[in-house]
Amino acid sequence: STPTRESLVATIKETIEKKSVELIHVQFVDIEGTLKHVTVTANQIDQVVEGRVMFDGSSITGFTPINQSDLYLDPDLTTFAVLPWTEQEGYSEARFLCSVKKPDGSDFDGDPRNVLKKTVKRAKDQGYSISVGPELEFFLFKTDENGQPTLDTQDKGGYFEPSPKDLGEKVRLEIYKALKMMGFTIEASHHEVAIGQHEINFKYADALGSADAATTYKWVVKTVAQQFGYHATFMPKPLAGENGSGMHVNISLFDDEKQENAFYDESNELGLSEKAYQFIAGLMDNVKDFVAVTNPLVNSYKRLVPGYEAPCYIAWSASNRSALIRIPATRGAGTRVEIRCPDPSANPYFAFAVIAAAGLDGVDRDLTVVPAVNADIFHMSKDELDARGIENLPTSLEAALDRFESGEIGRQTLGEHAFGEYVALKRAESEDFRTAVTNWEVAAYQGKF
Ligand code: GLU
Ligand code: MG
Ligand code: MG
Repeated sequence: STPTRESLVATIKETIEKKSVELIHVQFVDIEGTLKHVTVTANQIDQVVEGRVMFDGSSITGFTPINQSDLYLDPDLTTFAVLPWTEQEGYSEARFLCSVKKPDGSDFDGDPRNVLKKTVKRAKDQGYSISVGPELEFFLFKTDENGQPTLDTQDKGGYFEPSPKDLGEKVRLEIYKALKMMGFTIEASHHEVAIGQHEINFKYADALGSADAATTYKWVVKTVAQQFGYHATFMPKPLAGENGSGMHVNISLFDDEKQENAFYDESNELGLSEKAYQFIAGLMDNVKDFVAVTNPLVNSYKRLVPGYEAPCYIAWSASNRSALIRIPATRGAGTRVEIRCPDPSANPYFAFAVIAAAGLDGVDRDLTVVPAVNADIFHMSKDELDARGIENLPTSLEAALDRFESGEIGRQTLGEHAFGEYVALKRAESEDFRTAVTNWEVAAYQGKF
């Protein structure tokens, strides 16, 4: 049973007492999913839980104009956590993640958490709960004498490489301990394929819980890495010629009425239900229109190239890691779809919202899915791809934004305010890159021409 608000507040106050919490970070995210916080003293806990902490929305990327700048932070009491790395004898700090409200008490539309909540609500109205399990990969880089990140990885390890090659094992252990103390259930941790690349997996949860977890995870990974003198980055492709970092999103629908996973059907050849196939079809039909959200950076499109376990073609398969959509082998209650294009620079609230909305769109429209592609797509010729009708994902942020703006899924899911702000921000970023003269161009052309 869900604890009442009063009992949650009482437990929080007990923890503050017991752990000598002195400072509380009242947190939220901007439209890029970047964590922000204001820090208050613990004796202001009543103001915090009553949602009376105010901030200047005009100073937050994509929020409000200067003349409507007052916004309020409404904490999600279930996100309260003491920060393990601050704990000392007689002192510690804690945090809450918050949704954003307007002075009149209504939800602020530009808040990514509110955007995801709306999508969750729409799914609920259709009879479904959304479960999400994201897998966020990251790199650890050495820092220089000024504490600035270098491009020197802290190891030369590879996939599943154990110590002593994997110096990151120590860092991962500390990250694991911190996350566990903050309430995460950690399932696995390993060195990834690229040098200096790592992944730590936590248990799936409802869509909002997982977006909160992804946000917290990124913060904890960066914070703990810094204590070891490393810089952790969720940039999708920091090193050309090496695997990039993905944020695969495992997603499933739970049928609230039947109380079962809506994607599982034991009578089907692949163990998948009609709804699962429709959901996959919805993802494939809408993906070009939402990659500007799941792959938000100029750099994101340097990862979506053949040969690095990241997808670049729109296809699905029960096994294939070159496909956009894979169906992990688990069946029964764990039946799920894995979409492999998202990267960890995405705002997880927006990303999970557009992915869920795209899949549900397929269910609404009873879409029929194309046949699975079980061959290695990376090694197919252009003719073979064409013959099978396999299309490319957008290959640049600019192309992705063109689709995002002309499509419906982004506008509908993000809502007018967040959609408009997001497009403006990302267009400026794309244009900035288009007009920059890169090292590659100078190296290729300066001598030759
Ligand atoms: N690093 C790969 C990517 O860019 C994924 C590797 C894996 O399958 O975990 O998505
Ligand atoms: Mg991985
Ligand atoms: Mg995966």
